[in-house]
Amino acid sequence: MSAENRALWQFLKKSSPRLLWKKPRLLLKVMRQFLRARVLGKTSVFGVDFAITFACNLNCQHCLSKAFHELHDPRRDCLSTKEIVSIIEECRRNGIFVFVLQGGEPLAHPGLEEIIEACAPKENYVILLTNGMAVTEEKLARYRELGVDRLDFSIDSWIPEEHDAFRRREGAFRRVRQAMESARGFGLKVSIAVTVTNETLHTEGIQGLFQYCITERIPVQIFVPQRCGNWRHKEDFQLTEENHRYLDDLNERYGFIKRDIHGTFGEQGCPALRHSMYITAKGDVIPCPFIHISFGNLRRERLEDILKRAETAPYFADRYPRCLAAEHDQFIEEVLSKTFDAEELPISVEAAFFGESRRVAAVGISPDSCCEVRA
Ligand code: SF4
Repeated sequence: MSAENRALWQFLKKSSPRLLWKKPRLLLKVMRQFLRARVLGKTSVFGVDFAITFACNLNCQHCLSKAFHELHDPRRDCLSTKEIVSIIEECRRNGIFVFVLQGGEPLAHPGLEEIIEACAPKENYVILLTNGMAVTEEKLARYRELGVDRLDFSIDSWIPEEHDAFRRREGAFRRVRQAMESARGFGLKVSIAVTVTNETLHTEGIQGLFQYCITERIPVQIFVPQRCGNWRHKEDFQLTEENHRYLDDLNERYGFIKRDIHGTFGEQGCPALRHSMYITAKGDVIPCPFIHISFGNLRRERLEDILKRAETAPYFADRYPRCLAAEHDQFIEEVLSKTFDAEELPISVEAAFFGESRRVAAVGISPDSCCEVRA
């Protein structure tokens, strides 16, 4: 069986009964996407990571959102709930059917329920990426009622003290574990997002997390250090070949433990602007949370036009088998490095690829914005 047929077969085997009964329209969308990708050889963005707010109830050591918010054009306010809803509707019209609502902390957004409803969970896949601190049983019951499919929890280590130290909050690990168990109790799917480095991969904190997830069959999304935020000037951060192979082997053995390069529909490699994109809390479309280059702002341009621009962008037009932001030396040196010490983020496509500095225009100050970052 070819890799693509195997991928489809595994997908259908694992998901179809649930999808057929609960979300037949989602199943059709997935099938259509698979056929486009594997039969016609066409890729299109079908998933969006949407930072609906920069606000958060923690002040983590490695917070990307806070750093991004501080540098992100202060003349522009964050998207209002109304604007977020309208962007989600535009995404749906453009064939997007996977919505990962994140932040900051999405549960801190006062308009979250309205935003979830806009994602049309009956026919799409909706995920909330949370630190777990604000999860309550009442909220979980409501999310389930609204049709949220999954809660992804960010966990840094399976050793409570280590996780708490990263999060700068005593008891954070206990809270996130409780939240995860409660979510499972409510019949919601859960998964864990974790960042590993050469130094942490084989430690008790990370191995313990993997072991728990293997035993409980909980999906894990693994991130490796990227050249942005505090790591932007760190040149010796890349995973060793041995550690790469270790993660690849882990994925081979347990398909639910994966990096995002481990493929969708049998296609391996960086999904940025091929399958997925990231929308910031100010409406910029960037390739992923680690590449702060704006391909356009949804307050000013149609998503369709932004995605057309992305289709032909150097480095993104062809699939790179590994992570562009962490493992493509030329991309990092020629393009990504322009974001390292930028006065404002994201930088424009022109500035990234042609060295022309064009500041993102100050538009759309909104009255019910939800940008405030608080610890
Ligand atoms: S650049 Fe790296 S982190 Fe970003 S989408 Fe690609 S593989 Fe994922």
